[in-house]
Amino acid sequence: MFISDYHVHSEFSGDSIEKLENIINRAKEIGLKELAITDHYDFDMKNTPDFMVNLEKYVPKILDLKEIHKKEIDIKLGLEFGMQKHLGELGKKIINKYPFDYVLSSVHSIETIDVSLPEFFKNKSPEEAHGKYFQAVLDCINAYDDFSVCSHLDFITRYGGEKFKNLDYKKHWDIIETILNRIIEKNKGIEINTSGFRYGENRFYPCEDIVKRYFQLGGEIITIGSDAHKAKDIAMNFKEVYDFLESINVKYISSFDRREVSFKKIK
Ligand SMILES: [Zn+2]
Ligand SMILES: [Zn+2]
Repeated sequence: MFISDYHVHSEFSGDSIEKLENIINRAKEIGLKELAITDHYDFDMKNTPDFMVNLEKYVPKILDLKEIHKKEIDIKLGLEFGMQKHLGELGKKIINKYPFDYVLSSVHSIETIDVSLPEFFKNKSPEEAHGKYFQAVLDCINAYDDFSVCSHLDFITRYGGEKFKNLDYKKHWDIIETILNRIIEKNKGIEINTSGFRYGENRFYPCEDIVKRYFQLGGEIITIGSDAHKAKDIAMNFKEVYDFLESINVKYISSFDRREVSFKKIK
């Protein structure tokens, strides 16, 4: 079985202290074929410290490890880029400066406001907050070309407290379909992110219906990521994802080298 984790953070991210050595050992121990290290590059976030990986140190370190371990595991130089539509040009410059294999497009903040903070939800109904989030995702997809997949597409349910827990998918289905269609037109993909299981949501992001619709619309590019910030969480709850993909007859997952996609047979 081809198992790869395409979303893992290390001590190079502002919110992780995990050593790369521990991460790689764990990935080998559980038999991963590929491992993408995707540390955070988030900036221009009001009230939140910038989460900017030091690329001058990070890139050579990952490239070194890639070489050292290449016989046992294929390590990918990745990045989780916090996209905001006004940062399109800057993003392009940074991403193209380094030989990334894989870039996650993430919306963590909108108009500089961190969506995990109460400020984003203040004076908004759930419909307004969730609508604003999906609009920002669409704006970023339109503003950027230099990414591989869109990460945790509907993870906004994680934030805002009880009142915002239930996302009314029907109300937002048009924009969700527009997002999926744009992703497909741009030859990008989506990520299935299992961190929802760690956040008490008992599900992966995006929800099953969105993943199914993505395939119905003709999408093919898909990766699976744990969003682990600790070695022990690598590939967590992947069984649920692989079982689900099998149930909808998906036979391939994607692999990236220097941001070129290829497909790997799961079984
Ligand atoms: Zn993220
Ligand atoms: Zn992440």
